Amino acid sequence: MLNTPVLILNQNYQPLNVCNTRRALVLLNLGKAELMQDSAGQIHTVSKVFNIPSIIRLYRMVQIPLHSRRLSRIGVFVRDNHTCQYCGTYSKTLTLDHVIPRSKGGQHEWDNVVSACSSCNHKKAGRNPSEARMKLIKEPSPPRPNPFYLVERSAILSEWQPFIPWLVPQASE
Ligand SMILES: [Zn+2]
Repeated sequence: MLNTPVLILNQNYQPLNVCNTRRALVLLNLGKAELMQDSAGQIHTVSKVFNIPSIIRLYRMVQIPLHSRRLSRIGVFVRDNHTCQYCGTYSKTLTLDHVIPRSKGGQHEWDNVVSACSSCNHKKAGRNPSEARMKLIKEPSPPRPNPFYLVERSAILSEWQPFIPWLVPQASE
C-alpha cells in the first residue's frame, strides 16, 4: 500500500513527478505539500486511519532544469501521442524518423525527429518528406516545458488525467 503511485504537482499545478505513498505522506506531514485528491485506499495503523493520497501539490515552486528536455525515444513518442506523424496510426511499436535524414545533414533534435510507424518509415526511407511525397501531420518541436518526462514511464491513473491531458491517448473519432 505504501508503494501506490502518487502524482506530485508543482506549485503552479504542473505535474512534476510521481512518488510513492510513503514519500507523499512525509511531504504532507512536513507541511511541504497539500492534498489535492485522495485515492480509494486507506492505511490502518495502530491508532489512526489515513486516506492514501493520489495527488498532492507542493507549496513551493520547483524550477525544472533545462537539460530535462533532452531528446529521448520515449519522449518523442509521448510528445506525438504514440501516433505516426505521417499516417496518424496509433501504435505502441513506433520507430523514430529523422525528417531530414541524417545522411542529408538532418540533426538529432526535437524539431527533426518524429514518431513513425514502421511502414511509413520504410516507405520514406532515406528521403526528405517532399521527395517521398509524404506530409507531416504537424511540424515537430520541442515538448512543452512541462516535466512530462518524469511521469511518462508511470501508468497514468484516471484521476490524474485532468492534470496531464496531453499524456492521455486521444480517443479516435
Ligand atoms: Zn505511418
